[in-house]
Amino acid sequence: MTYRFSPSDLKIAPDHSKLHELISRQSNEDRDSLIRHFAHHLEYSVGKYTHNTTDTDIYLALAFTLRDYLIDRWNETQEHYRKEKAKKIYYLSMEFLIGQMLKSNLVNLNAYDLASEALAEFGYDLDHICAQEPDAGLGNGGLGRLAACFLDSMSSLDLPSSGCGLLYNFGIFRQRIVNGNQVEAPDNWLDIANPWVISRSDLIYPVGFGGYVEEYTDHKGNIRKRWLPGDQVLARAHDILMPGYRTRTVNNLRLWKAEATEDFDFKYFNHGDYIRAVEDKVFSENITHVLYPNENVTQGRELRLKQEYFLVSATIRDALREFFEQGPKSHDEMPDRIFFQLNDTHPALAVVELLRILVDEHNLEFHHAWGLVQRCFAYTNHTVMPEALERWSVDLLASLLPRHLDLIYQLNYYFIEELRQKGEPEDVIAKLSLIEEGADKRARMANLAIIGSTKVNGVSAIHTDIIKRTIFADFNRLYPGKLINKTNGITFRRWLIAANPELTALINDSIGLRWLLDQSRLRDLEKVAEDAAFQEDFQKIRQYNKSKLVKIIHHTTGVVVDPESMFDVQIKRIHEYKRQLLNVLRIIGDYQFLKDNREAEYTPRTFIFAGKAAPGYHRAKLIIKLIHSVGEKINNDRDVRDRMKVVFLPNYSVSLAERIFPASDLSEQISTAGTEASGTGNMKFMLNGSLTVGTLDGANIEMREEAGDENFYIFGNTVEKLDVIRPNYDPVAIYEKDPLIHAVLSSIHQNYFNPLSPGLFQELFHVLTYGGDHYFHLADFQDYRRIQGLISRDFRDRKAWLRKAIFNIARSGKFSSDRTIDEYAKEIWGIKPVKPAPGGSILFGPPLRE
Ligand SMILES: *Cc1c(COP(=O)(O)O)cnc(C)c1O
Repeated sequence: MTYRFSPSDLKIAPDHSKLHELISRQSNEDRDSLIRHFAHHLEYSVGKYTHNTTDTDIYLALAFTLRDYLIDRWNETQEHYRKEKAKKIYYLSMEFLIGQMLKSNLVNLNAYDLASEALAEFGYDLDHICAQEPDAGLGNGGLGRLAACFLDSMSSLDLPSSGCGLLYNFGIFRQRIVNGNQVEAPDNWLDIANPWVISRSDLIYPVGFGGYVEEYTDHKGNIRKRWLPGDQVLARAHDILMPGYRTRTVNNLRLWKAEATEDFDFKYFNHGDYIRAVEDKVFSENITHVLYPNENVTQGRELRLKQEYFLVSATIRDALREFFEQGPKSHDEMPDRIFFQLNDTHPALAVVELLRILVDEHNLEFHHAWGLVQRCFAYTNHTVMPEALERWSVDLLASLLPRHLDLIYQLNYYFIEELRQKGEPEDVIAKLSLIEEGADKRARMANLAIIGSTKVNGVSAIHTDIIKRTIFADFNRLYPGKLINKTNGITFRRWLIAANPELTALINDSIGLRWLLDQSRLRDLEKVAEDAAFQEDFQKIRQYNKSKLVKIIHHTTGVVVDPESMFDVQIKRIHEYKRQLLNVLRIIGDYQFLKDNREAEYTPRTFIFAGKAAPGYHRAKLIIKLIHSVGEKINNDRDVRDRMKVVFLPNYSVSLAERIFPASDLSEQISTAGTEASGTGNMKFMLNGSLTVGTLDGANIEMREEAGDENFYIFGNTVEKLDVIRPNYDPVAIYEKDPLIHAVLSSIHQNYFNPLSPGLFQELFHVLTYGGDHYFHLADFQDYRRIQGLISRDFRDRKAWLRKAIFNIARSGKFSSDRTIDEYAKEIWGIKPVKPAPGGSILFGPPLRE
């Protein structure tokens, strides 16, 4: 067995004399090459030598070292794409939640063990060094993390592609917990020099805002329109390089950062108004200052619209530059060379921006231009929640993007003509229109994205069914075949190989390496699911991961938890639809049961929560407070505290997630059926061998299909059932009639967990009862309790539980983002892998040997 137990406990004293010895040794070996580069960067990029080096210095030097390799391979890759005239995918997203890069880059370059041995020689633990890196938290949750997983898969599958996003100075806020309340702090992730972000001094585009639209007569006597923006802001490109797994392909994530234009400043400098000039500079640069911290909600703020257009404008300019550099014969080649994937409607204005440039600047005829545009876009829908659908105020569009609004009206005119010709009734036309009429007119970005795209996709089978039946039913009828499903996935490199190296080694030992390139081959694990030796090793690894998490829990919350207890985990954004409240109600129910039945048999559990609430989402913040208040009571109650613990880990992030998934026993995926489009956290648990308790929602349904009913715990009302009970749903009647629910809710109502601040949780009591319980907590409560009882019994039969866990891993292959991206490439993008030419630099050995 080759897996390493507890390397971080092995503290070796740094020995710098080794470093000297290794530097002076001349050799072409990868290892020595790596070490020489590393020493060079430690001295010349970080400015340190052998004394006073901190862990951060070591991190930086190693990161700069890898960056050199990445740059070499990136240049090779891009040169190769140009030669092949490859069609390129631009994945547009306002969020890329990439987290830390060093470890995953080492894994993808097949250099992790190499670097680990090299650093160990002079006394550093690589895992500890990797932990020094600040997370790139340029996203809120699932949507942003999906974009990051996709980039990893696009490179790993050798697909010509680039991520397109914004370089926010401040990513998602840091969450601190003070007295059980969430307190937000800025995430100054660029505080220390970031070796992964490469500023491109040559790639800079002006982006216009405001101003007016002018009509003029061109030299042929045609009346034309052009936009004369009032303000300009510069967009500068910054690249983060994304290596594929064991391939030489390196693609880039291009992030745009706002800078003030010089002209803009001079206007005021010339008038002697120095302060005003500098103020305006700050104002322009505001555009990419901060990520909006909302998930599944839109606020309609002007700055957000500016951010969206800023991303779109710079990306389209850049893509057109690349297209024309290839010397095309005409614009008609565009759909064979460039394709834009819209991650939700946030970048939907790209459709109009490309149309505007083709019509106003390249003089293409409107319908010709629109025909081309439609073949260059596809749109991914992520939610059916009405509060998340973007509808921009027409007044705001008129002041910020007047020409785009013009074009939206023009598109709408032709679209509605088409609908009338097809004989659509006026009420249907009103729903499909790009403009929502009313006192406050709004442009519907989803409708715009749909008519501008070749394909529209949902992100799980049930989600796609729902959008076809509900919000996009008329579009589905009018354009059959346009709406399709692409079930989400996650990258197994980060979420298994990097996050759980011990389990990875065990899998490699038992089924070989083929699964590394083809995740469906994990199925070979089925044959060892009941093997006693395999189960024992698997269990040891789980306990090792749990013991590491126990330390983190103690360090961050002060609570001591039992690694033998079941780790029952709900980690995700705090949102009513995700129903952290249902989990809390169940915990209170268990607590009351144990208080009344002190000798009852109870499988000890540690209930683990983590997740951020949007700063303006008061109710979600109150749920965080309730979790803490309930935890405080339970963790200090002698009657139960040996059997129950409730902890909330602050500041949920990618790097924290990487430590929790491998240490979990039970995954809570309990959203109200029909609300979670897919979920991807659910997949990370499955991959690491946790069992799922969940509703028939999002990807849970397909996960169960793969895992088998006997290896999955499903409960609660289905979408269809909820549709039936919704009209007459009466949570107050349930509260009054069900003694158990009554006792649980009364404890909240009667301030049992908050005697010193009475009334604190009344809002939550009200939401669940007289407020109508919009998310059906009470309707699902009893079935949730029932299944949790079953889970408790099953957990006590260790062999049976481990068998189920191993079957889950073995059947998780479908949820690899490689499968997802392969489907996008074939069915939406129409592109094939462009393999790097043989030869060139392979620094860390051939791609993969068995
Ligand atoms: C995977 C992931 C998510 C998404 O989790 P869901 O349970 O699918 O909502 C959110 N945040 C982080 C940091 C993640 O890694």
